[in-house]
Amino acid sequence: MKAKAAISDGHGEFYFDSITLGKPAPNEVLVQIKASGICHTDYDHMRHLKLFAVMGHEGAGVVLQTGKNVSTVKMGDRVLLNWAIPCGECFQCVRGAENICEDRPVIRPENRAHRGKPVNASFGLGTMATHAIVPEQAVVKIDVEIPFHSAAILGCGVMTGFGSV
Ligand SMILES: [Zn+2]
Ligand SMILES: [Zn+2]
Repeated sequence: MKAKAAISDGHGEFYFDSITLGKPAPNEVLVQIKASGICHTDYDHMRHLKLFAVMGHEGAGVVLQTGKNVSTVKMGDRVLLNWAIPCGECFQCVRGAENICEDRPVIRPENRAHRGKPVNASFGLGTMATHAIVPEQAVVKIDVEIPFHSAAILGCGVMTGFGSV
């Protein structure tokens, strides 16, 4: 499917363009993004890291489609996106330190393309887009009443503040 996205050019600018998202592969989830936060790290990505990528790493939305083996969410679920994506199986994950996972899951590269070539996304998410394909471990089902624009910042801004405190 086609999606619209904000893409950093790696040289201090960004622009809006179409990206192509494939059908979710096993353990991948297609999310319709309803809200995205803007983080200072997005500014860093745009200006300092020479990163050509779909921007945004905090967001919330609705599951549109799931790949095989996805068991924690289903179509229609409201979810927030988490950039500290734990594999659940490495040494750090097994000992309960998922935040420093050593083998973060990524999507099949061809499932996110720009002008026919695979394109990166900020922290593997790319929430500044109408849609995103992410690993199943990157989505957390929202089971409380909270607006999307509030849920969107839980994945980075809120957790960074919590961690600092
Ligand atoms: Zn951030
Ligand atoms: Zn891990």
